[in-house]
Amino acid sequence: MDGDYEKIPGRKKGTTVLVDLHNWVYYHKNGHGRYRCYSYVLEGCSAGIVEDDDGIFVPTGPPHHHANHKREIHHMMLVQAIRVRLHNEPRSIKEIYDEEVERMNIRDVTFATIRSTLQRERRSRQPPNPLSVIDADNLINEFPMYSF
Ligand SMILES: [Zn+2]
Repeated sequence: MDGDYEKIPGRKKGTTVLVDLHNWVYYHKNGHGRYRCYSYVLEGCSAGIVEDDDGIFVPTGPPHHHANHKREIHHMMLVQAIRVRLHNEPRSIKEIYDEEVERMNIRDVTFATIRSTLQRERRSRQPPNPLSVIDADNLINEFPMYSF
């Protein structure tokens, strides 16, 4: 079956994974232009993808023989969508989560399973507490989230 491939940020910060949005499986990078099925370690799946010089993704190895990764892929897509808003909007994580699951129509990633990731994400770029009025002014200029 043909895939519908897209690269998105992985669960581990700074990593990129290849997702197949048609078959709902995802792949970790495994060398230059090579990707290996996420189920390789846990379930011994040796399916892979090679990205050729024209940017075409070519499946290699045997077909997948395990349950799909739809929930894991939804989780990563949701984190990616919410992450951008966390740093620009002074609203609660839950409010943003509620809007995004509605907009993306994702029903298999509960708030409980994603909350700690999002809290860590928000804290990671939270600016320091202002020490003086001048600092506060600078912060407002630097971080639009404070100007609401
Ligand atoms: Zn597989």
